[in-house]
Amino acid sequence: MPFRLSLRQVLSRLLIIFSISALLGYLVGHILLAMLITAFGVIFYQYKHLVQLSNWLWKTKNISAPTAEGSWGRIFDGLDRKIRKYRRKQKRLNTRLRRFRDGAEAVPDGGIVLGEDLTIQWSNKRAKKLLGIRWPGDQGQRIDNLLRAPEFTNYLEKADYDTPCLLPSPVNSDIQLEIRFIDYGQDHILVLARDVSKVHRVEEMRRDFVANVSHELKTPLTVVRGYVEMIQASEGDFDPHWLQAFHVIEGQVSRMDRLVEQLLVLSRVEVNTDDELKQPLNIPDVLEHLLKDAHWLNQDKQHTITSDIDDSIGLLGVDSEIKSALANLMSNAIAYTQSGGEIHVSWKRFGSKAKFSVKDNGPGIRPEDVNRLTERFYRVDKSRSRNTGGSGLGLAIVKHVLQHHHAELIINSQWQKGSEFSIVFEEASVIPLP
Ligand code: ADP
Repeated sequence: MPFRLSLRQVLSRLLIIFSISALLGYLVGHILLAMLITAFGVIFYQYKHLVQLSNWLWKTKNISAPTAEGSWGRIFDGLDRKIRKYRRKQKRLNTRLRRFRDGAEAVPDGGIVLGEDLTIQWSNKRAKKLLGIRWPGDQGQRIDNLLRAPEFTNYLEKADYDTPCLLPSPVNSDIQLEIRFIDYGQDHILVLARDVSKVHRVEEMRRDFVANVSHELKTPLTVVRGYVEMIQASEGDFDPHWLQAFHVIEGQVSRMDRLVEQLLVLSRVEVNTDDELKQPLNIPDVLEHLLKDAHWLNQDKQHTITSDIDDSIGLLGVDSEIKSALANLMSNAIAYTQSGGEIHVSWKRFGSKAKFSVKDNGPGIRPEDVNRLTERFYRVDKSRSRNTGGSGLGLAIVKHVLQHHHAELIINSQWQKGSEFSIVFEEASVIPLP
């Protein structure tokens, strides 16, 4: 560096100045006086520039450092150089920041950056349109003070950010939003709000369509079934060939009837997210009735059905939905286990939660099929399932019921050894029974 001031340079300068002053002092016969005057001169020079530096730092608005002769000139030049470098860096950073902000504004999602305490640190324009959050007006406000939808409050309470939260936009209730929380950096959360109204509408149309078709099919099915039963009950002299045909028609109509019934149940549980229908349920009583039905269903297969029910645990839930989920798991175990099998039903505490299980020693399910069982119409073995009267909708109904009850379905199955289907209900749903 050509302008850098080194200790050697400073010392040699001082040496030269004091040597000249000593020489001049010698010539006039006052060495000490000459040295003293020089020392004062040096000190004055230093303080003069110190004051100049202080004035520049604290008084003037000038960005460039002052100019000076000698050593201080080099120091001011150095400062100037640093300032220019810093400003270039700041300019680059500003450009990057602007680019990032433009990018964040261009995304079609509402974006909000939250601090650790859920206070708003930044938000884009789309967040204003979708969530009504204004920037910079709402800076520093807690997000839960601004978004008060119960779905959002529950989501924050659960703090399970792996799944998104669905809620209508507080600005326009026709807009359906999917909100995701993404942890990033240190104690920061990026909240992304996406408009999923179109997907939501298509899903609604699909649900309505299935519900309407199922509903419309009920009357013709009842009429056909009525006529077939009438013919079968009549004393008419029918060819055995026709009697066989009537029997098949009756069987197929019953199957369609069950299918339509299950489609209607599925449509009902899919739309039902209302917690108001939940009531205290005496699960041991419910299970007693279901076990009676199970023994009736078990007449053909003659399984050994055992149970272990904790009489002190009840649930907060929707009566018809819970009964349908528990019955589904029990009837599946009966239907899919080969005759003379063993089925064990249990209802007990699971830490602070409660667990319902149905264990069988049936055919089991291959691991690759387990994750797909709750899909509509998914059947592992279509022909066997058809023989058992299965529609492939039972576990889809169970899944939706459990979603509504914030419960979890756990499937443990070993191929050719047996399966255990369990439902774990959260502590909040468990109630003690007297
Ligand atoms: P389905 O009405 O056909 O019984 P489900 O949705 O209830 O439909 O079940 C889906 C599939 O899961 C069934 O077709 C069957 O192959 C399999 N399954 C369900 N429960 C059991 C079980 N306990 N043992 C073996 N397979 C089962």
